[in-house]
Amino acid sequence: MRLVKIWHNENARWGLLEDDKVKLLAGTPYEGIVLSGEVVPFEETKLEAPCDATKVVAIGKNYYDHAVELGGQAPAQPIIFMKPTTSVNRHLGEIEYPEISDRVDYEGELAFVIKKTARKVKAADAKDYILGYTCLNDVTARDLQQLDGQWIRAKGFDTFCPLGPVLTDEVEPEKGLRIQTFLNGELKQESTTDKLMWPVAELLEFITACMTLYPGDVVTTGTPAGIGPMQKGDVVEVVIEGIGKLINRIV
Ligand code: MG
Repeated sequence: MRLVKIWHNENARWGLLEDDKVKLLAGTPYEGIVLSGEVVPFEETKLEAPCDATKVVAIGKNYYDHAVELGGQAPAQPIIFMKPTTSVNRHLGEIEYPEISDRVDYEGELAFVIKKTARKVKAADAKDYILGYTCLNDVTARDLQQLDGQWIRAKGFDTFCPLGPVLTDEVEPEKGLRIQTFLNGELKQESTTDKLMWPVAELLEFITACMTLYPGDVVTTGTPAGIGPMQKGDVVEVVIEGIGKLINRIV
């Protein structure tokens, strides 16, 4: 199943992407897939971020090579932080370069969206709680991250959380999906999702031992090595095998 959220008659609607068509849902995908009967050609659609987030929970330093490049060691347990819902951005949406930062980095990541209310979930049951997987760019004002000592401002600017283009349950990240980030067409990050130190199921157990996740909430799993800066006018792409390509321009 490949889900998209599209703008249709000035409403954001969920749909099933099949070949070159979007079959609109009557409601949201969380309670099950109910088609409305409306069908839209995919090429005519404007995509919205495929989530209904009350929060975006993010994980820091979850690839060993990235933890090392930041000058440290692998953490003893997952490092958890959050990005505000106002940072959520869509495929082809513009990333706004903040006036108060001089170093804004891409972080290509695998993310997943929650299907049903999740509290104290065991890793063995995690699949029941995941609606699908998508690409996410955890955009970071690196200078402010170092200046502040914690990450809320650095990770929290409006537009700093693009995700999409689609949400799919047809991939198995634990088997190792190729994940790549390109800046102006040049390969900057490359890894596979089986290199996550804490895989998806363990992250869901770790997070929901603390907080309840609601349908539509987003969890992003961390970035591999190769982070680097973007400039105004750059185009950044996060590509994950079996999911698709998330494209954004910096303005
Ligand atoms: Mg990150």
